[in-house]
Amino acid sequence: MNHRTYIELEEEYGAHNYRPLDVVLSRGEGVWVWDVEGNRYLDCLAAYSAVNQGHCHPKIRQAMVEQAQKLTLTSRAFRNDQLGFLYKDLCELTNSHKVLPMNSGAEAVETAIKVVRKWGYEVKGVPENEAQIIACENNFHGRTISIVSFSTDETSRAGFGPFTPGFTIIPFGDAAALERAITPNTVALLVEPIQGEAGVIIPPEGYLREVRAICSEQDIVMVTDEIQTGLGRTGKLLAEEHDGVEADLTVVGKALSGGFYPVSAVLSTTEILSVLQPGEHGSTFGGNPLACAVARTALRVLIEEGMIENAAAVGAYFMEGLHQIDNPLIKEIRGKGLMIGVEFYPEAGGARAYCERLKERGVLAKDTHEHTIRFAPPLVITREQVDWALERITVVLGTN
Ligand SMILES: *Cc1c(COP(=O)(O)O)cnc(C)c1O
Repeated sequence: MNHRTYIELEEEYGAHNYRPLDVVLSRGEGVWVWDVEGNRYLDCLAAYSAVNQGHCHPKIRQAMVEQAQKLTLTSRAFRNDQLGFLYKDLCELTNSHKVLPMNSGAEAVETAIKVVRKWGYEVKGVPENEAQIIACENNFHGRTISIVSFSTDETSRAGFGPFTPGFTIIPFGDAAALERAITPNTVALLVEPIQGEAGVIIPPEGYLREVRAICSEQDIVMVTDEIQTGLGRTGKLLAEEHDGVEADLTVVGKALSGGFYPVSAVLSTTEILSVLQPGEHGSTFGGNPLACAVARTALRVLIEEGMIENAAAVGAYFMEGLHQIDNPLIKEIRGKGLMIGVEFYPEAGGARAYCERLKERGVLAKDTHEHTIRFAPPLVITREQVDWALERITVVLGTN
């Protein structure tokens, strides 16, 4: 079947809530993916950083198959022989006390919101139903009603009201604005260490350190959404490590399963997660044995195979190569590790057309927020593969 047939099927029977590039993929291995006609592409999106470990990593695949032959789902009505080990691995790796497992990223963010509200009432003493959570302009934390309630992106919100109250918006990267926004009813700040969907926006040096200090002083929970920045993407296990800080609560997802399966988790302290009692929150699939076996292996290969160090080294090399591109319409090239954004001036007419042309040459990347292309390949990418990509990227991004 020609790729057109697949596209027509999708267009006819599926909701049109995405506008994908017209490439129909059927196989992946490491940094490479193949379309239904057998053309090979280097994947520079890595499923929005869910396949940090590379497509179909053989060890994760093996763990998934082996676990699928034994036991996949018990629900949390019963215990399973995998869950405790995932908890322990996550706590040891991230220096957390306690874990709450969920599935999608948005679910884990929702969980964080519920937990910090309850903490606010039960521990901080905020009057009932008065809790406020501070979030940042241009944030991306997912798609549920409560999460889009504090989005500042009209496309994500329009037509979906009424919204959930209890959120305050401040500019991203401005610690003084946080200080001004805090009231006695503030329970938490929710922040991405680097704003991915907004176009790889990196806050000023030391921002998270200042935020950390303010949150401690004012007794509010510092929540980092590391769903995209975490698990090696920026060259550290968690991006907050670049600032030498530890949030009180961190949300991870995406690469927690290496792209095999939706697995997310809330990582926090005993004090904060202890506000939840049996029956107050949960998920049928959260913490299931298949997810746990997959996630444990996804974490293990990330570390054992040096992917985090590789992201730092090869990411810097990739950035250096991008800086050689000569095009006056490029406004800025920025990034950390293998989370890189190339922003164009509006005169370039949007980044989408460049992505279409990159695809024709075998490089898959996606525009974000109109004028920026994000380059975020799997963390297993080698310098040689970056050279291969740069050759093509230089041709496309060097000509308007
Ligand atoms: C992708 C993402 C989410 C949402 O994750 P889903 O699994 O799509 O629900 C939340 N926060 C950030 C920073 C993300 O990149």
